[in-house]
Amino acid sequence: MTAVSSHSVAPTHVRPEDLATCISCGLCLNDCPTYRVLGDEADSPRGRIQLIRTLVATDERPTDELAGHLDACLVCRACETACPSLVPFGRIMEGAREVLRERRREGVVRRTVTRLGLATIAYRHRLARASALADAYARSPLAAVVRRFGPGALAWASSLAPKREAEPYEPVEREGADLCFFAGCVMRESFGETERATVRLLERDGHTVSAPVEQVCCGALHAHAGDGDGARELARFNIDAFAGSDVPIVVNAAGCGAHLKAYGDVLADDPSWAERARRFASRVRDLTEVAKPGAGKTPRPLRVVYQDACHLAHGQKIRQQPRALLRAVDGVTLVEIADAERCCGSAGIYNLTHPDISQTLQRDKVARILDARPDVVVSANPGCMLQVAAGLRAAGSNVKVVHLARFLDDPAAPG
Ligand code: SF4
Ligand code: SF4
Repeated sequence: MTAVSSHSVAPTHVRPEDLATCISCGLCLNDCPTYRVLGDEADSPRGRIQLIRTLVATDERPTDELAGHLDACLVCRACETACPSLVPFGRIMEGAREVLRERRREGVVRRTVTRLGLATIAYRHRLARASALADAYARSPLAAVVRRFGPGALAWASSLAPKREAEPYEPVEREGADLCFFAGCVMRESFGETERATVRLLERDGHTVSAPVEQVCCGALHAHAGDGDGARELARFNIDAFAGSDVPIVVNAAGCGAHLKAYGDVLADDPSWAERARRFASRVRDLTEVAKPGAGKTPRPLRVVYQDACHLAHGQKIRQQPRALLRAVDGVTLVEIADAERCCGSAGIYNLTHPDISQTLQRDKVARILDARPDVVVSANPGCMLQVAAGLRAAGSNVKVVHLARFLDDPAAPG
């Protein structure tokens, strides 16, 4: 994107009309998790928008302080829900992160780690190796020792290492499909059973589901990290991969779904792709927008907490559909928690880059969940599942955390 801001003397990825929507009313402040934790205006939505105006007003290198406040944003988009002026904060922040990445002077280590991380996610064979390594580590006695006795940062990262759910998922293309399935990157490698449960659910509803084999990572993490070129390249790959039909594209991970629905914005300034990107985005549906309430039954009465993923609740305004699907399961009592829509602190790789804030949010979320005395926690985003499960373990709880697709596919499993 190369729009030139009315506040700006330099080309920028932030749209001036987006910045102009903020009227500085401050109604978003108390809904911002980082403002609540840090108590600093510069770590609030209003403060960050002001910093972004400063950032794009010149083409100078940003100060470390300014960059730090923008880096500390979870991009949870709770401010979008709170904002009466419809400020598109997620889009603003992704643009600002791209400006930061272009202009800031990063240390070699940080730049290399970011590049390696994003390149691992983007290429399946690399992610497959990383996922297998994480799985082997998470199952090893070493992981348990490090979690318990290791230095803070290592113990924390160790607690989040994902174990694979059985084998990775292999996409299968089918003739005459009325739905396509977007499998994602981490979901496909580490949550294979959830992927298969998603396809089973849809097929049980009478759909024929095709998963294009050429699909790649959605690019959300690249966009959040300011790697706009990487995000746009992945978007083009996916648009091509799903070009064989016009049927809806179903996704079971909140972060991927929110980003796929924004492909029209991601490629808005590329004349060769903008229209195709808008058409692709209009086909994307979260699983809960498509799945029908089923006739499932739990083997015993279960109190279920539904954990709202930010990119479903705030990013896609999807709140009632997953709850309706859960309530339809015989034996489920859905129990609401306080501050249900506040971020759990996962936020992509935020829990690794900002462990202190992330742990505070995790502890708050887990305390709210335990107050509700659930038998099981259900979520629809892999990051939330890992974060909440690690928090529950740390609190000494053995409450299970499962993906919505797996729970609906087999409500007997968690009991
Ligand atoms: S996206 Fe979340 S963390 Fe960032 S400013 Fe908005 S509410 Fe705060
Ligand atoms: S982002 Fe929205 S709620 Fe927050 S200060 Fe700006 S206009 Fe007000």
